[in-house]
Amino acid sequence: MTIGIGYDAHKISKKGKMALGGITIDEMKAFDAHSDGDVVIHSLIDAILGAASSSTDKLHSNIGEYFNSNNTEKNIDSKILLDKIITNVYAYSELSIVNIDITVIGKKPFIQNYKDIMLKVLSTLLKIRKKQINIKGKSNNGIDSNGKGHSLSCITVIQMQ
Ligand SMILES: [Zn+2]
Repeated sequence: MTIGIGYDAHKISKKGKMALGGITIDEMKAFDAHSDGDVVIHSLIDAILGAASSSTDKLHSNIGEYFNSNNTEKNIDSKILLDKIITNVYAYSELSIVNIDITVIGKKPFIQNYKDIMLKVLSTLLKIRKKQINIKGKSNNGIDSNGKGHSLSCITVIQMQ
């Protein structure tokens, strides 16, 4: 049994629409990032690598060792990055996913409204059941940049075996 944790945060400032949890959020502006800035997928990738990289020398330990602004197409859809990582993980390790717990932190969007479609997209990409993923939002109660709606962060925990 292995456990991984991933974290990511981006400012919300770019023209265009937000990519979050593998879907497009029409009501939100885009993230300020080299890729599409999908904080859910970026934290999920780091959690997967955190759990899986210790099992084999063939996997790097974090997202930046695979993808960075020098080797990755601008505004790339993060679903492509996740697909590449999970293909490597399933190829090079014996591990499979037990469960994933995702917490999105920020004023908007209201995650409950998008939960079902996000779970469908993510579970399909990871080849697991929807029930193995939990995703929830926390508003951060106006406290900081996240709480005021200027940024969004995400924490993901994964269990693999
Ligand atoms: Zn990111």
